[in-house]
Amino acid sequence: MENLAKKYNPKDFEDRIYKMWEENGYFKAEANKDKEPFTIVLPPPNITGQLHMGHALDHILQDILIRWKRMDGYEALWLPGTDHASIATEVKVVKKLRREGIEKEQIGREKFLEKAWEWKDEYGGRITDQMKKLGNSCDWSRERFTMDEGCSKAVNDVFVKLYEEGLIYRGNRIINWCPDCLTSLSDIEVEHEDKDGNYYYVKYHFVDNKDEYLTIATTRPETIFGDTAIAVHPDDERYQKYIGKKVIVPLVGREIEIIADEYPDMEKGTGALKITPSHDPNDFAIGKRHNLEEISCIDEKGVMNTYAGNYKGMDRYECRKAFVQDLKSNNLIVKIEKNNHSVGTCYRCNTVIEPRISDQWFVKMQPLAGPAIKAVKDSKTKFVPERFDKIYFHWLENIRDWCISRQLWWGHRIPAYYCQDCGETIVAKKPPEKCTKCGSENLNQDEDVLDTWFSSALWPFSTLGWPEETKDLEYFYPTNVLVTGYDIIFFWVVRMMFSGLEHMNEVPFKHVLIHGLVRDAQGNKMSKSLGNGVDPLEVIDEYGADALRFMLITGLTPGNDTRYQVDKLEASRNFANKLWNASRFVLMNLKEDEELTPNIKTLKNEDKWILSRMSKVIEEVNKNLENFDLGLALHKVYDFIWNEYCDWYIELVKPRLYGENEEDKQNSLYVLVNIMKDMLKLLHPFMPFITEEIWQNLPGNEEPLITSQWPKVNIENKYPKSVEEINFAMEIIKSIRNIKAEMDVKPSKTIKGYFIPKNKKYKEHLKSIERHLNNLINLEEMTILENKDIIDEDTASAVIDGLEIYLPLSELIDFEKEKERLKKEKEKLESEIKRAEGKLKNKSFVEKAPVKIVEEEREKLKKYKDMNAKVLSRIKQINS
Ligand SMILES: [Zn+2]
Ligand SMILES: [Zn+2]
Repeated sequence: MENLAKKYNPKDFEDRIYKMWEENGYFKAEANKDKEPFTIVLPPPNITGQLHMGHALDHILQDILIRWKRMDGYEALWLPGTDHASIATEVKVVKKLRREGIEKEQIGREKFLEKAWEWKDEYGGRITDQMKKLGNSCDWSRERFTMDEGCSKAVNDVFVKLYEEGLIYRGNRIINWCPDCLTSLSDIEVEHEDKDGNYYYVKYHFVDNKDEYLTIATTRPETIFGDTAIAVHPDDERYQKYIGKKVIVPLVGREIEIIADEYPDMEKGTGALKITPSHDPNDFAIGKRHNLEEISCIDEKGVMNTYAGNYKGMDRYECRKAFVQDLKSNNLIVKIEKNNHSVGTCYRCNTVIEPRISDQWFVKMQPLAGPAIKAVKDSKTKFVPERFDKIYFHWLENIRDWCISRQLWWGHRIPAYYCQDCGETIVAKKPPEKCTKCGSENLNQDEDVLDTWFSSALWPFSTLGWPEETKDLEYFYPTNVLVTGYDIIFFWVVRMMFSGLEHMNEVPFKHVLIHGLVRDAQGNKMSKSLGNGVDPLEVIDEYGADALRFMLITGLTPGNDTRYQVDKLEASRNFANKLWNASRFVLMNLKEDEELTPNIKTLKNEDKWILSRMSKVIEEVNKNLENFDLGLALHKVYDFIWNEYCDWYIELVKPRLYGENEEDKQNSLYVLVNIMKDMLKLLHPFMPFITEEIWQNLPGNEEPLITSQWPKVNIENKYPKSVEEINFAMEIIKSIRNIKAEMDVKPSKTIKGYFIPKNKKYKEHLKSIERHLNNLINLEEMTILENKDIIDEDTASAVIDGLEIYLPLSELIDFEKEKERLKKEKEKLESEIKRAEGKLKNKSFVEKAPVKIVEEEREKLKKYKDMNAKVLSRIKQINS
């Protein structure tokens, strides 16, 4: 039988196999009372996204778990979908329109949304197509979108429910504002970077004594137009006498009061703070405490408004320059100090954010955070590794109300309606026809949309049919594992947790498996700006998806970063080749349609050894998978296939396959095929394509591998004695191979040997493995002795546990020939040494050649000297 292609070439079969799986519905899952469910919801990638290495790692981890559980008898559902990515998509569509010379305001909301849907139809499916290349076994018939009908209904229902419970409110609050994207941002959408800046020490003269002044340090003098107070600490002795007095806002001329508040840090700056409630969140809070006026002097685009007087119309930074210049010329600046400080920037466009007071919608977080903290404390949901619960707790314990409105058009429009006649606000699942208060039909819907995370927070249950009480929801919820990177624990995991608890009364998942980033070979973060990103699709094109999966999982431990490494890809290809060739070897020895008829009673020790080992490996792989230690599980499977099956077992049984004993032949084929089937199963979740392709070519497989049964630990396959014997044989073979290599003897050279076993047990072992020593190291004659007294020849020796081995040198080498060979070797090495020494003595070479070349020459010389020393000791040994 020889149906498997001669060469392993993943391109020949990966796409074909994926199609076969998908067309036959093997990825599909249904509520099934006879089985236990195992559910994973895919973190929905943005429709603007292209598959990158981070997704690849994230998805492969999920696919491994799903494939394993599917084979292990669970109703395994991996539910896929995409996220509408409100701000990211809107930015893309706006840019596209701009290239066509259109501004979104020109065409209006409805037309813009049409364009956005067109964009989604064209590009939104890109990432899901790419995902299929990885081998992702998602149930595509259930694919969802955060803005599809069901998810949108869930969003509206949640909004109305939380509003009615008083957990959603509208308020005039200070928020993070991006003057370029023209939208509010939540705290986590703001990134912080250190920027060069200055501390400007500005004079605020007293109203009642114009010769004296207070010095106030500020990093943002352009906000002075919005100052409405000066705050000092009530315990600050320097300033106590001024509390209640008034100062003049420099160049503006407005009078403001000096107030006492606990907030100012007496050690920082001058200890006195200018308070600008409209442009700083801390000042905003102080303003609320003291009922201060809120003066906003910068508009939504970052441009100065009428409050800035002469500076009106200037960009905020332009104004800063001009205003400082004018302060200087009016002798209102004491000094300017350089200082680096952290500024918030927009995570989308990197523009420095501008705190801004506006009307926004908020979710009250305090009541929702409590149950979410408790659920993890009670281990209802566990983080893997556990240490990540700290990030989770820290975030929830310090949470502020969540600003959920965004000044965008692409997204879920807020279901709030304002009566134009009486001012009533109506929040409703469906657009109301009349004002509930005055009956007016003159209603306008809120212009804003919801934060993208508002809908993805509902993902684990909205995708299963919520708010309907569906069978799916009952069966598949709560899900089992959420797989995600540590960077979105607070963005997303936290929000799914409190949403699940609030709306389903149950945690959304039992485990959160956290993984790290995929870094480049040097350990740097992959990024567009560094240009060091590696496209997973290119890797798949060159090496195949199995190789990419192998590379990303090998050596991976939960929670830690991993690296993209070409040598691991090469290793993976070597491994695939090895497995491929071993399979071809087995297949070539099978006859077409041959029913194997083994006799279990006459299995040999190597058969029993590999059966025992297989059982043990299944046990270990199960344990590692249960612990989410996927990297370790893969390592066990890899090690077994490469070392034990390919390198040992096949070699140990070869003579029987070519021998005359038919029963023996049947037995070895039976074991070869059955172990191969089990190891293909164990490897399948990690390398699904190659394993399925080989499986399809093995005889007697009616079912595809993907739905075959996960191997069971077989307690009958425990043969400790055979395991001991084969281990013993392997140790002997390895040490004799070593001796042959050291002596430059061909591995195939036949030899004789004296063996001194420690006791009767090892003596027995020797007899039962003699066959293997004959076959694998050409041991022609085995002499078992009590002690070494009667060995009078020159020998090479080795000691292993339970045994001393002596090989007569006369058997290993032909003395005359060897002397001749060593002589030649010595001459060659000596001439090389002379040449290298000459070169290194040459001053002009050492001084002028590149350091690297000189270094190489030194290393060469050292190597030749070492080799020569070995040759000399061999010559001495032979002559003695
Ligand atoms: Zn922005
Ligand atoms: Zn009304």
